[in-house]
Amino acid sequence: MQRNTHDALSTQVGRRSFLKMAAVAGAFGATSAFASAGATRPATEEEVKDPFPGSQKIKTVCTSCSVGCGIIAEVQNGVWVRQEVAQDHPISHGGHCSKGADMIDMVRSNVRLKYPMKKVNGAWKRISWDTALDEIASKLKSLRGESPESTIFLGSAKMSTEQAYYFRKFAAMYGTNNIDHQARI
Ligand code: SF4
Repeated sequence: MQRNTHDALSTQVGRRSFLKMAAVAGAFGATSAFASAGATRPATEEEVKDPFPGSQKIKTVCTSCSVGCGIIAEVQNGVWVRQEVAQDHPISHGGHCSKGADMIDMVRSNVRLKYPMKKVNGAWKRISWDTALDEIASKLKSLRGESPESTIFLGSAKMSTEQAYYFRKFAAMYGTNNIDHQARI
């Protein structure tokens, strides 16, 4: 079956990014305007057939939770450029939840968080890792002084067994049983 332009584009740029681009294009009626300004050109047949020449498809798993659904990561020159579902994965059988369906944006989204941010007077400000750790440690210490039960520890769904063990130990040593996880399935 021949792929249409929508399919070709959406597989190249990722579903979420594509939807954003489509929304922008729709809002401004931009497609023809860009084309007439020479800002865009139709993809060549070769580019549609093989948009990432020399890329490799690598079987891996989604790391958003411990289910470990299968993903095929297409990598070109060390950069993850496209994602597909792993139809033959023994656990997920080609299925994903919404987090896994766009896992690639965890590494290439322009809006992903890359360093600690702190809200100061209503605006987000970048702070260093040392400052973030010091501030969190000092806040935890002061809350513990008031009452350890005022704090809850919420583990990540992507923790390994060993990480979960240490997380549990940390909460117990802090002095509370308020601990939970946010697994999906
Ligand atoms: S259930 Fe969702 S988040 Fe968990 S591994 Fe599968 S796709 Fe990723």
